[in-house]
Amino acid sequence: MTKLNKTIVVTGASSGIGQGIAVAFGQLGANVLINYHSDEEGAKETLKQINDGGGTGIIHQANVGIEEEVISMFDRAKEEFGGFDVLINNAGIQQDNTFSKMSLEEWTTVIDTNLTGQFLCAREAIRHFEGKPDTGKVKGNVIFMSSVHDIIPWAGHINYAASKGGILMLMKSLALEVAPQKIRVNAISPGAIATDINEEVWSDETKKKELLKLIPYQRIGEAKDVAKAAIWLASDDSDYVIGTTIYVDGGMTLYPGFVDNG
Ligand code: NAD
Repeated sequence: MTKLNKTIVVTGASSGIGQGIAVAFGQLGANVLINYHSDEEGAKETLKQINDGGGTGIIHQANVGIEEEVISMFDRAKEEFGGFDVLINNAGIQQDNTFSKMSLEEWTTVIDTNLTGQFLCAREAIRHFEGKPDTGKVKGNVIFMSSVHDIIPWAGHINYAASKGGILMLMKSLALEVAPQKIRVNAISPGAIATDINEEVWSDETKKKELLKLIPYQRIGEAKDVAKAAIWLASDDSDYVIGTTIYVDGGMTLYPGFVDNG
């Protein structure tokens, strides 16, 4: 694999998909700002794996839903690395409940992190990219981490599905707005990837069997499946790809109930 001579900011990089992406980029020689919210040990593990693979990184604590913390985080990336090229807008949470039982707090916590948090981070990235000189080449790249639930409705998780549906239009509208400035914006929508966010499903054999019925490709994904798509989207190989969502989902969005087993 070719070396990626880029600096990237990865939010929520102390675990799961964010950690997998940060490590994969680090191993390709990128400089990585590893953002974490509360799991400092996880962030240190991410940095260790990056260093072991020959990459460099810094750790920065910030809540992506708080404006001042987001601004400071991107200032740090500029100070330490003299700028950055790619934002992996990954941090996200679930707080599940049925609709009539859902509290306003459960609604706003998820929207604040998943949607407003991705807005705040993307805005700082775009501000930085817009300030770069025009050379005719790409100035920067924003990759939103959405979910198959930006198009698959999800009962019992309406705050989460609403946040991801919001990311879809945020991503597309932003891609349209900044493409003329040579700034690329896309999204990745993972299906079921085994991480902390869904551990209670993949660690239980019965629930895992039920989950596999929703995945035509018959395996649960891994963070590295998502990382490979992120590397391609961040590279110049995808230079003409704008405003697109890559579904990394083993076919989950293909209406698996219609699979013909007979
Ligand atoms: P995860 O729980 O391992 O990772 C989420 C990360 O976000 C954690 O590191 C967490 O600390 C961080 N985070 C949470 N709130 C934050 C905040 N306010 N500020 C900064 N960081 C914060 O789960 P994951 O599966 O790796 O999730 C990563 C992203 O992928 C999320 O956006 C999630 O919605 C999305 N996703 C995951 C799956 C899956 O199956 N795992 C499927 C679709 C989409």
